[in-house]
Amino acid sequence: MLLIFIFVLGACIGSFLNVCICRIPAGESIVFPRSRCKCGAQIPWHLNIPLLSWLFLGGKAQCCGRGIPARYFIVEFLTATLFVVVFARSNSLPNFIIGSGFCSLLLAIAFIDMDTMEIYDAMSVGGMFVGFVISLLFPQWHDEQSGISSLVKSLSGACLGSGLIFWVAVMGEMVFKKEAIGGGDVKLLGTIGAFIGWKGCLFSLFGGCLISTLIFLPSLLIWKLIKTKTFTIPRIIPFAPVLVIGSITHVLCGRNLLEMLF
Ligand SMILES: [Zn+2]
Repeated sequence: MLLIFIFVLGACIGSFLNVCICRIPAGESIVFPRSRCKCGAQIPWHLNIPLLSWLFLGGKAQCCGRGIPARYFIVEFLTATLFVVVFARSNSLPNFIIGSGFCSLLLAIAFIDMDTMEIYDAMSVGGMFVGFVISLLFPQWHDEQSGISSLVKSLSGACLGSGLIFWVAVMGEMVFKKEAIGGGDVKLLGTIGAFIGWKGCLFSLFGGCLISTLIFLPSLLIWKLIKTKTFTIPRIIPFAPVLVIGSITHVLCGRNLLEMLF
């Protein structure tokens, strides 16, 4: 029963993330106005229920028959699933709230980066300061006894995270003769460090690259087999999703993975 409640809660947050993903790059308010279809019609509440409405409508708007991208459903389903898994792995309510909030922020950043190749400072730098405050107030998030040692973990994570990826970016530029990793990614790994410390940063960067390669290489090959003629490898690839995949994996099972390896 409780898990169903957590799933529904996650789906609702996912629905809010969809609003953020659409409206933040457009510079619109994420609170007002109420959701509208692209044709301008206001969406009634009973057609705006997370997950269910999309399934019920078969991915088509009722007002004008326009297609509703499957991504709305995917974001809601991903968020709901993440909430359940984070809940199952959390040992306290504050840790669940912090973990699921952190994952939600990362999801929004990843999808916005895929759409626009931008990471907004309000989310990355803003998130980093939230990470510092949370570390100070809730030391149990970092498995620490005192707020100060927890804050030190958070600060060192932010410094190492952005420092590390900065030097990776410098080397990437030397090798590829063009900007390989943007400033947004540097700030984002700082945010990740503020939440999960320097070990989490290392995991997010290298683990994220490894997992993404394992996921994307086979899909690229399959894609290539299906669409031989139209296929082109994108020249620039958003990097935030890679870091996000790594750090969400770390939140969910990083500690166990690290213990298994070392
Ligand atoms: Zn419409």
